Amino acid sequence: MATTVTHVETVRGPVPTSELGVTLMHEHVFVLTPDSQNNWSDEWDEEEKVAEAVEKLRALVEVGVRTIVDPTVDGLGRDVRRIARVNESVPELNIVPATGLYTYADVPGFFALRGPGALPGLPDPLVELFVRDVTEGIQGTGIKAAFFKCAIDHHGLTAGVERVLRAVAQAHAETGAPIMVHNRPADDTMAEVRRVLGEEGVEPRHVLLAHVGDSPDVDLLSRYAEEGFLLGMDRFGIDAVLPFDQRVETVAELCRRGYSSRLVLAHDASCYIDWIQPDLKPALPNWHYLHIHNDVLPELRARGVTDEQIDEMLVANPRAWFERR
Ligand SMILES: [Zn+2]
Repeated sequence: MATTVTHVETVRGPVPTSELGVTLMHEHVFVLTPDSQNNWSDEWDEEEKVAEAVEKLRALVEVGVRTIVDPTVDGLGRDVRRIARVNESVPELNIVPATGLYTYADVPGFFALRGPGALPGLPDPLVELFVRDVTEGIQGTGIKAAFFKCAIDHHGLTAGVERVLRAVAQAHAETGAPIMVHNRPADDTMAEVRRVLGEEGVEPRHVLLAHVGDSPDVDLLSRYAEEGFLLGMDRFGIDAVLPFDQRVETVAELCRRGYSSRLVLAHDASCYIDWIQPDLKPALPNWHYLHIHNDVLPELRARGVTDEQIDEMLVANPRAWFERR
């Protein structure tokens, strides 16, 4: 039965979709490796990191961003209680939380010998856990996940990646919450995503193909847009993977071809990420939350992208993705 969703779950509770406003569709607050942090690192100072996050998110609010969609799940160090602490001090910003599992290869050891990992044919506990995050809340907080996140990268469709993709699809079938998939467009991982999710009965309009903006192949991206997928032009600032000029031109060309209703924008940035050696971070000077507003939008306008198209990418398309059932 088709129903219209009018609210999106956020860290601070449900928000009318009409109030999401300018939305960056893929931003982390923290990306952490808790086990390694606990064992090896002296970088983490809880009070300091929370205060830094508050400051960086306030700067986002000041340029007019009302919502960030945060796909931090198991595998990326999700702790929604910490995000709630941050959000308390930036109440003007909606932070949309996710559930799911982020792996390029195997499921975490915790799941290796549970469900179908223990005995083929057993139901996958991942499905029930993902559904619980959406319907009851995350980590016992009552904060509900608004969407699912999973990944496929250079290893391709491993057994672990396929298990997570299918679990996400089944949790989507139960809840209707949409699905964001991390991709490696250089390998066209999107083809496997389309096949597996298609076999599970997931419609493309519910699927955001994240990171496809890492590719300048406009013909390839146009085909996925044509099929109804939402395309994540969501790594602005990661210029070492694809330079600024090509990222902007790819979006501009997709808009010229009439696909502005299929695009969303973001940086895939974070306030703190422990995956990168701290003294190497200056090599990515544009990789921060304000790059789109400071640099990308002016350049898109200069290349003929209209304010209406920018509004679609930042406001209407995120809203529609969360509203569809
Ligand atoms: Zn990400």
